[in-house]
Amino acid sequence: MNDCLFCKIIAGDIPSKKVWSDELCYAFYDIAPQAPTHVLIVPKTHIPSAAGINAENSGLVGHIFEVAAKLAVELGLENGWRVVTNVGEDGGQSVKHLHFHLLGGKKLSLEMA
Ligand code: 5GP
Ligand code: ZN
Repeated sequence: MNDCLFCKIIAGDIPSKKVWSDELCYAFYDIAPQAPTHVLIVPKTHIPSAAGINAENSGLVGHIFEVAAKLAVELGLENGWRVVTNVGEDGGQSVKHLHFHLLGGKKLSLEMA
């Protein structure tokens, strides 16, 4: 956990462009955007991926989707948007801290963005 990039971003040890912060989650712009709007929404607690979602922490996911819907309005994504979470090697996950990509601002292809 000490070595987790997104834990360091949440703690403010690594700078990020904040979009949202509350007691449960933090949202910031992706450093390598794959769409005109590309925001990452992460829980403030360290969960390695969606494979770690269980009965005790699944409420976070509903909360994060509430935040995604709110941010989509704030960021002007009225024409539509997408939320993606990658899990493990085959899923293309590069950062091992649960995160949801919020993508929009163009007609998205059937690939992630
Ligand atoms: P994944 O590939 O794990 O689903 O997504 C990780 C995302 O984190 C990628 O889209 C990547 O561009 C983004 N990312 C990696 N390092 C940083 C960073 O230091 N700052 C920000 N803002 N995004 C990062
Ligand atoms: Zn972490």
